[in-house]
Amino acid sequence: MNHLLRVVRYAWPYRGRFLLSVVGGLLVAILWAANLSTAYPVVSVLYQDKNLQEWVAERIRTAEEKITQLNQEEVYLQTGPHRADARTQRYISQRLREIGQERRQYQARIQRDRVWQWIIHRFVPEDRFQTLVVLLVVLVVLMALRGVCYFFQETLVGSVTNRALLDLRNQMFRRALKQDPAHFDEQGTSAVMARFTNDMQGLATGLELIMGRLVREPFRIFACLGLACWFNWRLTLLTVIVVPLAVLVMSQVARRLRREARRSMESISALYKILQESFQGIKIIKAFNLEHFEQGRFFREGKTYYRKVMRTVELDSIANPLTELLGMFVIAGTVLIGTYLLMTGETHLWGIRLAAEPIDAAALVQLYIALAGLSDPARKLSNLYGRLQRTCAAAERIFEYLDRRPQVQERPDAVPLGRCTEAIRFEGVTFRYPRGGEPALRHLDLVIPAGETVALVGPNGCGKSTVVNLLCRFYDPQEGTITIDGLDIRAVTLRSLRQQFGLVTQETTLFDDTIYNNIRHGNHRASREQILEAARQAFAHDFIAQLPQGYDTLIGEQGARLSGGQRQRIALARAMLRDPSILILDEATSAVDVESEALIQRALEKFRRGRTTIIISHRLSILSMVDRIIMLERGTVVAQGTDAELLRTSAAYRRLREIYFQESGGYRQTA
Ligand code: ADP
Ligand code: MG
Repeated sequence: MNHLLRVVRYAWPYRGRFLLSVVGGLLVAILWAANLSTAYPVVSVLYQDKNLQEWVAERIRTAEEKITQLNQEEVYLQTGPHRADARTQRYISQRLREIGQERRQYQARIQRDRVWQWIIHRFVPEDRFQTLVVLLVVLVVLMALRGVCYFFQETLVGSVTNRALLDLRNQMFRRALKQDPAHFDEQGTSAVMARFTNDMQGLATGLELIMGRLVREPFRIFACLGLACWFNWRLTLLTVIVVPLAVLVMSQVARRLRREARRSMESISALYKILQESFQGIKIIKAFNLEHFEQGRFFREGKTYYRKVMRTVELDSIANPLTELLGMFVIAGTVLIGTYLLMTGETHLWGIRLAAEPIDAAALVQLYIALAGLSDPARKLSNLYGRLQRTCAAAERIFEYLDRRPQVQERPDAVPLGRCTEAIRFEGVTFRYPRGGEPALRHLDLVIPAGETVALVGPNGCGKSTVVNLLCRFYDPQEGTITIDGLDIRAVTLRSLRQQFGLVTQETTLFDDTIYNNIRHGNHRASREQILEAARQAFAHDFIAQLPQGYDTLIGEQGARLSGGQRQRIALARAMLRDPSILILDEATSAVDVESEALIQRALEKFRRGRTTIIISHRLSILSMVDRIIMLERGTVVAQGTDAELLRTSAAYRRLREIYFQESGGYRQTA
């Protein structure tokens, strides 16, 4: 429930609109009761051979007669034969008090009826059929008015909820971007997406219900109860007995519903994951004929989801008939008692007073209608309780996410980091991935002087990319420190740290936008001229200029409309535009064509001057280009030096060079 209150806080800024909607809900309830209350005159007109004028006059006349009778009785009791017997005395004084009470009731009734009489004489025709027509017109008008109020309430509530959720969603996205990459490894991006879509939708529905139904339906219940009480509050009171019983049943159902709802949400995350994987890997799926397999996976997970959802549906559907049944018991009981009173003309049952005056048929019908009218809002409310449990489950998942603190945190006293001018230093760094078993780096010591170009080499999984991940502070090491120019990277602001890097990875990340904008992401303050210059430096300008729309070409999701080499050159231009002090290429040329690779290397030759450059690559041509080669094995440095030095001194390096490194050839062709 706490979580629900937190959601309501997001709606707080829009409280004005919400208050208006509450007024709307109140009007709906009042108009509804007014609608129901037309039953009394309608029944009266239909089942008595009098028109309303006569009928009211008769009501007043009988009341007056009753008062006269009471007066006579009073006089008789006061002046009649007095036997000084104590019991009789007590009886007489009690009866006198009752007479006073009844007389006051009849007088009040006469006053009320006089008002009605005035209204009826003024507005209602004398003919009974015409009266009915008037009543029906009133009914329709009231209904229309109620519809208008309903419309306003719902639209106002809709706008409040959706504004609140817009804010919440934005905040959540801001939080999500602040999370560590480790978080996405753990959760999977699809699970995070499920929170943004499915859970948010659940929350939206819930919030709308809270502010719409939860406000309106109780009003309607009170309006109906009020109407029923107007006709006979004693009989109405009998119906209230059922409330605690209904609450008990509902809370039992709700508790289970909440648990099941949470399970079903977790299951839909799994469905999202399959969707994402299949669509991203669509080529592999087709090439390996895996369609069948993927379909099976999707089908099985869908079945699990179906089962979980069905459990919530079942629980939800139990609530409705249960409350209806309870309600019907009560109404049946009340009507039975009412009918008994009507038929016998009594006002008491088993010594309990149940009516102020003998009941008439129209009043009984009206009472029945008012009570039956109660069952509709009661049912909607009981159903609501279950829905709220689902909303709670969604809110729980969403706020759990909002409250997650990323592990990589900026210190409050963090200082900005300037351009790297001295050295990057790893000292005794040990790091294990959150879900990984073996440490990816063990006591790693490494110095890269500023301005040097180094190649990180080593077999697959030896920790090359991990070095880059730690340097960019995507993760923090468990032991050891990493410094740039002597400053611990944990002591500098994240923004200034990442400002230093130009990163090009093997899986190029481009956004579904124009080429121009993709390069511009390197530096949003760059001029058009600078952007074009970066493209030229990265040897991307020529191919871009040949495209029909040039720099305005939309590249499609993940750069789908470009070749691998073209994508990589755009990514390089983006990194270059940044004018980084440290350029990092993590297998940037592993997946590109020979020509692109050669172009990228040529671009690097010029660009690396005056910068620290870290290249992770398996190309022979790189080895001769760099100042120093650092060889890693199982998370530690095993050898360092130039290609020639290492060939002489390290057997491990010679083996690695033979197995992993390939001639690219293309470099020589074009160079
Ligand atoms: P490479 O030298 O090929 O770039 P990495 O630095 O990517 O190797 O990986 C080093 C080790 O860490 C490997 O054993 C790999 O399995 C593991 N590893 C890499 N990324 C993760 C991750 N996100 N979670 C858990 N383990 C990881
Ligand atoms: Mg790697």
